[in-house]
Amino acid sequence: MIRILTFLCFTVCFTACGQQNKKVSSSVSQKMTGENILIDTSWTEKIVKSDAEWKKILTPKQYYILREQGTERPFSSSLYEVKEGGLYVCAGCNNPLFSSVTKFNSGTGWPSFFKPYSAKSLNVSGDNSLGMVRDALTCQRCGGHLGHVFNDGPKPTGLRYCIDGDGLLFVPKDAAAPKWSVATFAGGCFWCTETIFESIRGVKEVISGYAGGKEKNPTYEMVGAGLTGHAESFEVYYDPSEISYSDLVRVFFASIDPTTVDGQGPDRGKQYRTIAFYRNDTEKQIIEQKIKEISADYSKPIATQVVPYDKFWEAEEYHQDFVKRNPNQGYVRAESIPRRTRTLAKVKDLVK
Ligand SMILES: [Zn+2]
Repeated sequence: MIRILTFLCFTVCFTACGQQNKKVSSSVSQKMTGENILIDTSWTEKIVKSDAEWKKILTPKQYYILREQGTERPFSSSLYEVKEGGLYVCAGCNNPLFSSVTKFNSGTGWPSFFKPYSAKSLNVSGDNSLGMVRDALTCQRCGGHLGHVFNDGPKPTGLRYCIDGDGLLFVPKDAAAPKWSVATFAGGCFWCTETIFESIRGVKEVISGYAGGKEKNPTYEMVGAGLTGHAESFEVYYDPSEISYSDLVRVFFASIDPTTVDGQGPDRGKQYRTIAFYRNDTEKQIIEQKIKEISADYSKPIATQVVPYDKFWEAEEYHQDFVKRNPNQGYVRAESIPRRTRTLAKVKDLVK
């Protein structure tokens, strides 16, 4: 996952995609620290090596942090000041640990984050060294020591993951993106569609955003008020060696009612219309073939639009991974999670 954003939505309103105001930052990275690293969260094997083997592949600084529980001098890591978009991975095993969008300036001199990248990033354990009781962090994949977590961090988690930069490598978001293919759809509320596709094998990242209109830099408020031609959309970054475009199209149609005009579920308005965007003739044919196949299953005509991909605008960061971060939000519980359950039951063979 390369393009990962965050979301701070505390709304409890029972409507789709509640209103919040937060700016997205999507600067293009110049850092090339780990540009050749393939981002992989689908690993299952832990990495175990002897000290001698680790010494061979790690620099002395990395070895000191990761394998000797060392602590770097504050302000000494070149990653401390990095603000570009991207991913921080374990220097020992490339396990994705933190996204740049959860990085914040803690003033401590150590790279600080408010949340790990995934449930497979970190292990937390008690550490009573140095006369302090702290929660120590290790890489879940290789066991490398990374730092500590404290409960004085910013919202939404209130946690501060204080990390030794020498234990990390930075992968700029644009460095890994070309390794994946991308597909774009609009399927109603993007909170729902994002969580569905993130459950699908071979999908590396899903970004919520806006597409289908001509307006530049659309905001949630503009789109939600029907002031643009955009629909709530999402981009799926996937590994074509693990899942085909055709299977993604299958998931897409399983996730929607393609006969509903300008809406899905409780959401109504052209911003909730369904669209399959194609990037080439092959994708167009795959979509059209699928529509032909499913037409017999419905009594009403298929309303899903099939249009050439033009431009996708990333949504505000609080909309990204919304369901994951707001599992108890009213709409999420009433709509997004049941919709995900219903959809995944139809495409069981494609679920992660
Ligand atoms: Zn590791």
